[in-house]
Amino acid sequence: MSEIIMTNPATGEKLGVKKCWTRKQILDAYKKAREKAESFKNTTIEQRIEEVRKIKRYIVENMEEIAEKISKDLGKIKSEALLMEIFPVLDCISYYEKNAKKILKDKKVRNPISLIGKKSYVFYEPLGVILVIAPWNYPFNLSFIPIISAIIAGNVVIYKPSELATYTGMLIEEILEKSGFEKGVVTVVYGRGGEIGDALIEGKPDKIFLTGSTTTGRIIMEKAAKYLIPVELELGGKDPMIVFEDVNLERATNAAVWGSLLNSGQACVAIERIYVQENVYDDFVKLVVEKVKKLRQGWNGDYDIGSMTSPDQIKIVEDHIKDAVKKGAKILVGGKRKGKSMFFPPTVLVNVNHKMKIMKEETFGPVICIMKFKDEKEAVKLANDTIYGLNASVWSDDIDRAVRIARQIKCGGVAINNALTASANFALPFGGTKQSGMGRYHGPYGLYAFSNIKAVMIEKGKKETEINWYPFGKEKYERFLTTFKSLFSEKTVDKIKGLPAMIKLMRNK
Ligand code: NAD
Repeated sequence: MSEIIMTNPATGEKLGVKKCWTRKQILDAYKKAREKAESFKNTTIEQRIEEVRKIKRYIVENMEEIAEKISKDLGKIKSEALLMEIFPVLDCISYYEKNAKKILKDKKVRNPISLIGKKSYVFYEPLGVILVIAPWNYPFNLSFIPIISAIIAGNVVIYKPSELATYTGMLIEEILEKSGFEKGVVTVVYGRGGEIGDALIEGKPDKIFLTGSTTTGRIIMEKAAKYLIPVELELGGKDPMIVFEDVNLERATNAAVWGSLLNSGQACVAIERIYVQENVYDDFVKLVVEKVKKLRQGWNGDYDIGSMTSPDQIKIVEDHIKDAVKKGAKILVGGKRKGKSMFFPPTVLVNVNHKMKIMKEETFGPVICIMKFKDEKEAVKLANDTIYGLNASVWSDDIDRAVRIARQIKCGGVAINNALTASANFALPFGGTKQSGMGRYHGPYGLYAFSNIKAVMIEKGKKETEINWYPFGKEKYERFLTTFKSLFSEKTVDKIKGLPAMIKLMRNK
């Protein structure tokens, strides 16, 4: 049985060893989950909210300890653990405490005249067993939010944390246990995706929710296709920031630095490409460089930026920088780490272009790339010149212009005069276009993502027959013809002409 050795990437400290699950253990877990799903689907929304509230209470009471553990697992600084991991989970629970009942309530839908006497509804029902596969970059947030959404919608969950965030997976399991959360609703399965992925899909979950790379998304979708399992894929990004000449440069550069470097750049919605209008380009670059030089990098102290988490990801960052420099890019700050350190220095690159990997592929590291543009048309063309479509930001004092540009960018969310805020309001949908994935969650979308949205029509059932049932015959055909022509005609005179036929049909004569 293989195992995972957990270490703090910032210090190299060993955090423990976790045994990976076998195929048999996984298939047994699905069996138990299916049994649990049968009873859990009958719980009320209030009961589910009460369960999830236990998690919230526990997190609030143990916040510092949780932030410390997340920080140790990933090398991120504690403020980032609070801001981007813990806060969004609490915010999600609070949102559903207030809104879930309304979102999942049966909805009455108006009937067209042709269905007079009937009542139409939408019911939101649980899907059953959901497989949640999570990444390592925000493992607390990106595990708990889909797990909580699936539970509130009445499902049970098989959850696989990233092998690089096993310690956080264990933390989540500990929180579920210690908070008194109902047993059997969430099963945490440990292992490497490449080794246990097939068994996870063979268990035939009712839906797979993956947050991860585009490569993994493609593999999982292919495998899920064998059993026609629906998938929601929250994948990689290469988010652009477009800065027009009429902005407050101080604010825009503060945002550019934070939005590119947060979590050491290991954020799917981090700014990975900056396009600045030519008149203000030089001033923008100067300010960014000044601000980046002031950042303090380290772990467990008074720092702004922590270490990177994945040794493989650092190699990608180095490869992208090397490729860019070879093709003419200029490094203004950073660019090289000390030895094999997991701390990659914040880096600023200029003279970049779209022939370089750093402007085309996901870098996922603390690198800021800045390029010039002339006008709106060029800015939109550059922003859309990517296989990804997750988020974007547009900066201009002219809000009409910013909105016009926002509409033209093919992506899942846009922040205007801010960085990343489109994903900060939990009520807004979150998800990507193009190779950034498919599906939407957060807010009402997060509960619908895990629901069977069922159409129901209710009839009192007193009439012996319906007009559209047998027998048909020539006479009925003529009445249908006249009625449909009059129903959909734009002329009042036709509508009046068709009334007698319509009445006869309704009386079923
Ligand atoms: P990854 O694709 O390597 O791994 C994600 C998860 O998938 C892990 O749990 C991994 O074990 C599992 N996995 C890998 N192969 C599998 C297989 N064959 N079958 C089943 N599971 C498998 O991604 P990562 O490196 O952990 O995370 C970084 C990536 O995630 C980046 O591309 C980033 O942009 C993306 N991401 C996207 C979002 C979003 O919301 N769109 C958020 C965070 C991260």
